[in-house]
Amino acid sequence: MQKAVLEEWNYNWVNGSKIQAAAHLEVWNPASGEMIARVPDLDPAKVVKAIDAASQAFPIWSAKPAPERSAVLEDWAARLLADRTALARLMTLEQGKPLSESLGEIEGAAAIIKWYAEEAKRSCGEIIPASNPNQQLLVYREPVGVAALITPMNFPAATVARKVAPALAAGCSLILKPAETTPLTAIAMFGHLMQTALPAGTANLVTGQPARTGEVLLADERVSKISFTGSTRTGKHLMQQAASTVKRMSMELGGNSPVIIFPDADLDKAAQAVAANKFENCGQVCNGINVVYLHRDIKERFVQKLLPLVQGLRVGPGMQPGTDVGPLIDEKALAKVERLVRDAEREGAKVLLGGKSLKGDKYAGGNFYAPTLLDEVTDDMDIAREEIFGPVAPVLTFDNEEEVLARVNVTRYGLAAYVFTGDFRRIHRMISGLEAGNIGINGTSLAYLQSPFGGVKESGIGREGGRQGLEEYTVLKYVAMTIS
Ligand code: ADP
Repeated sequence: MQKAVLEEWNYNWVNGSKIQAAAHLEVWNPASGEMIARVPDLDPAKVVKAIDAASQAFPIWSAKPAPERSAVLEDWAARLLADRTALARLMTLEQGKPLSESLGEIEGAAAIIKWYAEEAKRSCGEIIPASNPNQQLLVYREPVGVAALITPMNFPAATVARKVAPALAAGCSLILKPAETTPLTAIAMFGHLMQTALPAGTANLVTGQPARTGEVLLADERVSKISFTGSTRTGKHLMQQAASTVKRMSMELGGNSPVIIFPDADLDKAAQAVAANKFENCGQVCNGINVVYLHRDIKERFVQKLLPLVQGLRVGPGMQPGTDVGPLIDEKALAKVERLVRDAEREGAKVLLGGKSLKGDKYAGGNFYAPTLLDEVTDDMDIAREEIFGPVAPVLTFDNEEEVLARVNVTRYGLAAYVFTGDFRRIHRMISGLEAGNIGINGTSLAYLQSPFGGVKESGIGREGGRQGLEEYTVLKYVAMTIS
């Protein structure tokens, strides 16, 4: 089994063909600590070949009528669905999430691609009423050109679909660089894309050392667009690099998303929603709840409702049926969670549940951390200020609306915020007061394929999903035409 995986994914896709490299990156199973595959560590000259291929394919792909582009995306989605079981297993193997979540993600990725297949037919320009009778003012919407797409490890299929599908729908050609920890799902997905009628070179996939590969993609003036999902730190670095050739940018960066629970909320529903959101994908979700703000009057009651839900979560390898929470992606992620909890405890926080790494005899080399509930957390602790990206729910207390708004808006992040309340006037005040790109009211599901998801402040630029997600891959060309 392992031997087969090792050999099977050791290639990239450039100009419609599989290519290999002398050097390799190793891919590890986060549930066992074993190496499962090697993928190419492509040298810069070969990354340039991928850009060459994308540049040559761009005039061919962008000239295709929209229904033809749409048909390619439909075909890709159908192929992914047909292979969903194998793709989901591959994702769990490299990423660690429970198999049911992987399966849901593959189906979700196919749905995103299918949605953009439809949207490809509706990428319209505009005619503006002119001031002079002999003039027409026209706005064309055109594909931006060659796009570089860089994806993270937490959703190895969905993040690929959310970038590749709108790029292709708009008429762009592209080079994808998936996360080095989870490249296998993307390589397999591209295998299916290559089976469609997509012209060779339109979509390329490269793996390699992140900084070195990124530099080549960002320095090349033929690349017109960078779309990145990952940490704010890396995003800022890429923005600086992109400035030298004024590339269009979409940045989905980090967050410090609060959930704020008022006494007039349905506390049972809120507790279920918080538990579902906070521990999904072992807490490794960009718009996942980072900090739980509870009104003082309901704090104890709410904690007592949340406690058994967290207690009931089954930790284990994603391949094991019944697992709710898998491992963290790597040792670095585990060490970060350990540090944040340890420091919070030292500064006065109280561990109600969990609070420890589970790496050891039972979980041998796996990066498991116990689902954790942390009480008496304060705003100044690192755990309340940094993106945790782990299965830890820190509980903070507040007394009134104005105070909690001021406290949650202090952060430089502005990705998501969640509010639970039964008061409509309060809902309006919170929506206008919260500095966040995405807000959940009385629910924690946000990232729907038809909705424009994205951050404000240092959580990002641009939107993914929906009509707006396709517009990110287009530029406007304005024409003032004199008729006579
Ligand atoms: P996270 O901490 O969420 O993994 P990163 O920002 O480190 O976020 O990684 C997200 C993606 O960005 C990955 O594909 C990674 O390889 C890539 N990446 C990291 N550093 C760089 C860089 N200097 N240039 C280009 N890509 C990078």
